[in-house]
Amino acid sequence: MSRGHVRPAQQQPECRPRGDLTPLPEQRYVCRCGEELRLVRASAEINDWAHETLSGQRYRDDRSALLREDPARWWAQLRQRMAAGDMRAAQLYSTLTAAEDLGWGPGWHYHRPEKTLTGPPEQPPPVCCGRPMWASPDGWACRVTLRVFPYTPTTG
Ligand SMILES: [Zn+2]
Ligand SMILES: [Zn+2]
Repeated sequence: MSRGHVRPAQQQPECRPRGDLTPLPEQRYVCRCGEELRLVRASAEINDWAHETLSGQRYRDDRSALLREDPARWWAQLRQRMAAGDMRAAQLYSTLTAAEDLGWGPGWHYHRPEKTLTGPPEQPPPVCCGRPMWASPDGWACRVTLRVFPYTPTTG
């Protein structure tokens, strides 16, 4: 997403956001593990969202101590069991390698929103440079120039 040393102000259209610049109401989601999730700022530096549980966890870690501290050894032990003809180990191995690609591992996963608990926002997003704006943590962002316009306070 980095735009390098391009100077956007020179070549890009001037932003004139139209519409309601108040923040969207908070949305709630649920992960497949049943945890309720909300949107939080990804980090102090990055103006983007991350999902976390209401108690502030971004992933769930129920791994065994060996897997947490020495995953290479844990996998080596699983491969040894496979090599020794353990069918359950072979099944586990193929399930887990597939799951790792999806952000799931043995005993842990990143929480991801599977379902939205809250209804869609009633207000339409503001429009800038011909496109609906993106509700970023810092404010409404123009999708064309990436300029951010701070939220105006909600009235009433
Ligand atoms: Zn714009
Ligand atoms: Zn989860």
